[in-house]
Amino acid sequence: MTQTTYLFAPPAVPSLAVRGQAARLPVNRIFCVGRNYHAHALEMGKPVDKAAERPFYFTKSPSTLVVSGATVPYPPETRNYHYEMELVLVIGQAGFRVPADQAHRLVYGYACGLDMTRRDLQLVARDKGRPWDLGKDIEHGSVVSEVVPMQGTVLTEAELALEVNGAGKQKSDIRMLIWDLREIIADLSLFYHLQPGDIIFTGTPEGVGAVQPGDRITGHVAGVGEIALQIGPAE
Ligand code: MN
Repeated sequence: MTQTTYLFAPPAVPSLAVRGQAARLPVNRIFCVGRNYHAHALEMGKPVDKAAERPFYFTKSPSTLVVSGATVPYPPETRNYHYEMELVLVIGQAGFRVPADQAHRLVYGYACGLDMTRRDLQLVARDKGRPWDLGKDIEHGSVVSEVVPMQGTVLTEAELALEVNGAGKQKSDIRMLIWDLREIIADLSLFYHLQPGDIIFTGTPEGVGAVQPGDRITGHVAGVGEIALQIGPAE
């Protein structure tokens, strides 16, 4: 048997702790749903008409993954670094063109997530018709808590909230999602062969805002868990 040799050490597999398990969950891809709460779409100046639109997505590199509790540098080339509190859906079974009524089969569990965003760069990209990568695919910018196994369970209601330095900033419920979890799995699986280890940031509610070096972000999704992030000095 031949063994592959590499010029330099391959990067470590990005992974998440799983509640009640010694084994970690290897993260394959990070998908994010854009504008999935009406009140957040409105605060971004881009209301959503579900009857006339489909959901849209962007991706973040798995190498941007950071575990809850970390301290991360305030990133370069932004003056408007935003938090976005989200429910993260963790895929545990492969699926392609999955009907909504079968979507539960793909669910491994859930986590809390922070979709950190260079809002200034994202809005320039959006308004100039450029890709969102510089605004969204940020080193240390995809923060995820431990994964809570709930195989086959599709959550339909759960409060989610976020505070900065203890002051409430975001508070909503996943009942307010424009496209619910079944609809997201069904739609995203039209484009991608979903795989175990794919994770989906399901969108953020209203109340997004900026953080500064020294700020501490905390958040929770009821019935799932908690998340925290400390913003360190600018690089
Ligand atoms: Mn987001």
